Amino acid sequence: MIRPKDLVISTMMCKRCAACFRRPYTVCPIYEEFGRIPPFSPPSIIFLGSTILFKQMKASSELAVIPYACTLCGSCSANCGQFLLHLRWETPARLFEGIRSLFIEEGAVPAKISEVLNNLAKFGNAWGLSLSSRTAWEKDLNIEVPEYTSEKEYLLFVGDAAFIDEAKPAIRSLVSLLSAAGMSFGTLKEREVDSGDMARELGEYGLFEELARKNIETFTKHRVKKIITVSPHDYNTFVIDYLRLGFKAEVYHYAQLLDQLISGKKLRPVKSVTETITYHDPCFLGRYHGIFDSPRRIIKAIPGANLVEMERKGRYAFCCGGGGGRMWYDPQEPTRTRISNIRVNQARNVGAKVIVTACPYCKSMLLASDNLGEINIKDLAEILAASCL
Ligand code: SF4
Ligand code: SF4
Repeated sequence: MIRPKDLVISTMMCKRCAACFRRPYTVCPIYEEFGRIPPFSPPSIIFLGSTILFKQMKASSELAVIPYACTLCGSCSANCGQFLLHLRWETPARLFEGIRSLFIEEGAVPAKISEVLNNLAKFGNAWGLSLSSRTAWEKDLNIEVPEYTSEKEYLLFVGDAAFIDEAKPAIRSLVSLLSAAGMSFGTLKEREVDSGDMARELGEYGLFEELARKNIETFTKHRVKKIITVSPHDYNTFVIDYLRLGFKAEVYHYAQLLDQLISGKKLRPVKSVTETITYHDPCFLGRYHGIFDSPRRIIKAIPGANLVEMERKGRYAFCCGGGGGRMWYDPQEPTRTRISNIRVNQARNVGAKVIVTACPYCKSMLLASDNLGEINIKDLAEILAASCL
């Protein structure tokens, strides 16, 4: 969360130089998506934030489309010569969350964003689904998913993947892999509530803290020391924001743990998966936390897998379009250029037949592209399970 004082300093420091979005290739996904028009670019969002902070303009739901179009991908941070967007806090794009919080204060947010926030507050998930929906993904598994108790070594935090149909095969694969490796783990089942990450991304700091404190209370009660997350977004918030709230644990994204299990010979990829694969770095895992190598090592360990790299990879990877609430909110319908379509074309350009990723939002967004053709989208846990189990 960004303090008001830091928000003022940061917005004032932007030189409007455009280095963060106008390069030989497009850096900012929304600049491309909206047909390269000025309001949808990092400095325009920052300028809007400063006019509201200095009371030259009032936050309104009409203007809210601009900050809420941002995917919080952090690509502009990686390209800003001023290192402006890194100033005084730990991860990229916090500045944009802060600007959104100005709209939250005025109650001036797009209707869909309001709905997501209300669902998070009322049901503990962004979809407004019942408690029992949180464990619906377990039904097609032929093994029992262990419940977390203090005797278990790892808490598997399922998060939003539990509600995203496209992500359910990935959680099932992950649970099967962890079981096959003999890991001591369990989930909180219906006691899990949203990590609060999305509330924070949408600028609703109060709701973030409320949700986070609920989880922290449960984690503390069950003496949770090690957490595996399915979502890079939950990983990000546990590592940064929960620590700020005083909760400390060893946190792993599942890609890190699966990588360790392969190197420790607890998982053996033996079956061939003969595919030309490219890896799409989820922004909140790669650019935010520098986790670039573990997923690639996993793919390379699979016999027959031919890993090819897209031009925009690692720190400079292009976004899938799903972060910052864009999983739910589409500011322009019909969309002129889908962000995920651009990413799929980048994969096609290097001859990939499968795009592998490690985030439930990324998989869902990429699958919704309307130019997939012969290209498949898979989660890292799914392709590893196909080789190991
Ligand atoms: S590169 Fe940095 S200083 Fe330049 S316009 Fe972008 S955010 Fe502002
Ligand atoms: S965080 Fe990503 S989408 Fe948002 S302004 Fe920066 S580059 Fe554009």
